[in-house]
Amino acid sequence: MKTEIDFFKKNIRSWYKKNNRNFSWRKTNDPWKIYLIEVLSQQTQLERANKYYKKFILEYPNPEKMALASRRKILNLWSGLGYNNRAIRMHQSSKILNTKPFEDLYPNFMELPGVGEYTNSALLSFAYGEKVITVDTNVKRILRRYFKINNLDKFIEKNQKDLLSYSNSRDFNQALMDLGSKICTNRNPKCSICPLEKQCMKYIKEETQKKEPFQNSNRQKRGQIIKILINAKKVTSCELAKKLNIKEHRVKKLIKDLERDGFINISKNKYIEIKS
Ligand code: SF4
Repeated sequence: MKTEIDFFKKNIRSWYKKNNRNFSWRKTNDPWKIYLIEVLSQQTQLERANKYYKKFILEYPNPEKMALASRRKILNLWSGLGYNNRAIRMHQSSKILNTKPFEDLYPNFMELPGVGEYTNSALLSFAYGEKVITVDTNVKRILRRYFKINNLDKFIEKNQKDLLSYSNSRDFNQALMDLGSKICTNRNPKCSICPLEKQCMKYIKEETQKKEPFQNSNRQKRGQIIKILINAKKVTSCELAKKLNIKEHRVKKLIKDLERDGFINISKNKYIEIKS
């Protein structure tokens, strides 16, 4: 496991240096800015959420300003983003933050309406530099695929410290988000250009399954049977076994497969021939 984790950390880090998405809020540790983008990007792509973030942060650079705004104004600015209840919860949160700032809530922000474990960990990592993994859908998918694990919670509990050692959690988490959005996508992951491909258990397992060794494989023997039948017209399984130098019961299994796939006929007197 240590080798896989080391490879994972090293390659994620160097990939992110060249491929990160350059959003302004990625450089800040202002919890209000981080809270805003997290709310806006729930069920919304980051690029789209970012456009709304720019409008909101201009209008409401702090929770105090938003707390004074009318609901109508908030909904108007939110218009087009969908899931309006997120806007309502954000507005309610600003009112709470107006009297009880982030510093008073730290390290548990779940008192704010709509803040669950994920947003809480995002605030801890991005605003306070805590060594926590922000487990969103991208992060889950990559960890599950790369480490081929079923119990993700247990895996994170056991390996979080190791995964985050020597790197700041903000870069680590953002790197996984970017990799999940660009390369390790839900459908058709681009494994051939993935920095993790050499050690990825999903990739390794699927490739290994695909590559049945050809020498003496069933695939090779089936091809040889077809070749023999093309030249000899019809033969028995015993003759095939001798020609292929394999046991007759294996030949019988192979010709059953070939018959099922529509390549050959087996006559009543047990002669095998190419299907006409
Ligand atoms: S190799 Fe493929 S499955 Fe594995 S992490 Fe990369 S993109 Fe995802």
